[in-house]
Amino acid sequence: MTPSSSDHAYLADNWSDVRCRVDDACRAAGRDPSEVSILPVSKTFSADVIRDAVALGLHRFGENKAQEIRDKAGPLADCGIEWVVIGHLQTNKAKDVARLASEVQSLDRLELAEALDRRLQSEGRAIDVLVQVKTSSEESKSGLAPEQLPAFLEQLRGFATLRVRGLMTLAVQSDDPAQVRACFRRLRELRDEAVGRGHDLSRLSMGMSGDFPLAIAEGATEVRIGTAIFGRRSVRTDA
Ligand SMILES: *Cc1c(COP(=O)(O)O)cnc(C)c1O
Repeated sequence: MTPSSSDHAYLADNWSDVRCRVDDACRAAGRDPSEVSILPVSKTFSADVIRDAVALGLHRFGENKAQEIRDKAGPLADCGIEWVVIGHLQTNKAKDVARLASEVQSLDRLELAEALDRRLQSEGRAIDVLVQVKTSSEESKSGLAPEQLPAFLEQLRGFATLRVRGLMTLAVQSDDPAQVRACFRRLRELRDEAVGRGHDLSRLSMGMSGDFPLAIAEGATEVRIGTAIFGRRSVRTDA
């Protein structure tokens, strides 16, 4: 647990603090902490900061823009990082993603699946994907409408390069924990229904710095944590 520079000791403190809070939330929910992993979200933070996080033993990072992965992958090529796409992806970014990302959690439409599949085939790679579902009625949130999920999951069976592992969502932004929790519950129910139709979906990516205990209570298998690990972002980004 030695950060590469004492300037970045805060990262070690934040990381162990977040891990403790995740473990506490698991125990409060009667779950084993080993069931819930943490995806550090490094969007807007520099390659240098990510390198310090690598020195703490982290090797998987969530980014919401293909362009940022492109910019960071070069300088961090020696770190063995697995880049995870968690933001809305334009189809014309499929080439970069197929080359650089190990996973996409924001798969939300057939056109994107087709573009990724085509590019992955030429790279000779397959990646894990989660389908992003819109569990709130907020206009700003992207994701597939819940009622479209069954048909979409059937269509995804046709793409050998896309290994569908589970579902992802962003909860409504609200001060009312009941409303936030209802989004997470919805995702779990959709997952359970899909499993009932024969889909092998074990993963639920839900919960961020401000709401992860509720997500863990509803069955999250991974939480995506940015601010609580890296600090406040100076740039506003759209999820
Ligand atoms: C930025 C982002 C996160 C992390 O948010 P924090 O509140 O900083 O923890 C999680 N998921 C998605 C999709 C994001 O864009």
